[in-house]
Amino acid sequence: PLVLGIESSCDETGVGIVRGTDLLTNTVSSSMDEHVRFGGVIPEIASRAHLDAFVPTLQAALAEADVTLDDIDAIAVTSGPGLAGALMVGVCAAKALAVATGKPLYAINHLVAHVGVGLLDARAENLLPENLGALLVSGGHTEILRIRRITDDVEMLGSTIDDAAGEAYDKVARILGLGYPGGPAIDRLAREGNAKAIRFPRGLTQPKYMGTAEEPGPHRYDWSFSGLKTAVARCVEQFEAQGEAVPVADIAAAFQEAVVDVITSKAVLACREQGITNVLLGGGVAANSRLRQLTEQRCSAAGITLHVPPLGLCTDNGAMVAALGAQLVMAGIEPSGISFAPDSSMPVTTVSAPAPEP
Ligand code: ATP
Ligand code: MG
Ligand code: FE
Repeated sequence: PLVLGIESSCDETGVGIVRGTDLLTNTVSSSMDEHVRFGGVIPEIASRAHLDAFVPTLQAALAEADVTLDDIDAIAVTSGPGLAGALMVGVCAAKALAVATGKPLYAINHLVAHVGVGLLDARAENLLPENLGALLVSGGHTEILRIRRITDDVEMLGSTIDDAAGEAYDKVARILGLGYPGGPAIDRLAREGNAKAIRFPRGLTQPKYMGTAEEPGPHRYDWSFSGLKTAVARCVEQFEAQGEAVPVADIAAAFQEAVVDVITSKAVLACREQGITNVLLGGGVAANSRLRQLTEQRCSAAGITLHVPPLGLCTDNGAMVAALGAQLVMAGIEPSGISFAPDSSMPVTTVSAPAPEP
């Protein structure tokens, strides 16, 4: 099926078009430039930017894919989780298109779409039938999921209990004076630093949280990054109090090592114990060079096959929404209708909003 996907959960306005598992276009416009001076995404600005960007992005996508709205078989839109006002713009646009064209509409979970994008990969056949693990690391989420069937059977094995990893990168970058968004800056600077110069804490790794494989503790597969952020702040304060130059590169490297070490060790532990042999790495922080490297190393040591979608498909985009939409169409899942509301805290177990009761 030819499926049009619309994404507007945060600062990216995305329209993607796929035919089954073939990607035809992935057109994205971001309002990030407008948020930089505030040091974070401002919801009101993001919503207005979606309004401005939607129609041009849609037109560009249709032109690039060389298709018309008439050719489209179904429309898919992110209905959550995300910023309420931002979601509203994409959802209203999608409903308008669905009403105008009479095409079926699917209200899609953004996080599951981050996984669905992996099915556009050439190795997609290997991914679908397996008991797939998904490690999602982004600005808003850090989660390890078990995907038994991407269209309707998704389970959360573990997640962050406070900050997301990307959020921790952004906050630590601010502490170190590196600007926003902080992920890429820390990634770059960390290459010049010594990750072993300082040891930062790995959250929720104490025995009382971990327990054992037989008797798991309360947070065996969970993460926490807010203590790490505080530890970095203390460390900087100490250097300053002693009148010493702050070793910014070493701190960046040591912070990054703490994040990446605990993410990968817990994710691989969860997969080993849950019999998961295929893992997809997704979300914006999947762009991080050290996270990719260590995930590869540890997965390969544990006999787990790792799948990493191309970078442009790891950050928020419309193609991932279209990709998951196409899976729903092919599985014969009922469309969502046009009376659903966006849900800023849509649970990951809801892959698409159910069709209304007859
Ligand atoms: P969500 O998908 O959970 O709604 P989001 O849209 O904010 O959140 P993404 O766009 O997927 O998330 O990713 C943005 C985050 O990725 C930011 O926090 C940014 O700092 C981080 N990031 C981007 N590149 C890198 C990198 N090379 N290293 C670490 N972090 C990075
Ligand atoms: Mg984003
Ligand atoms: Fe996202």
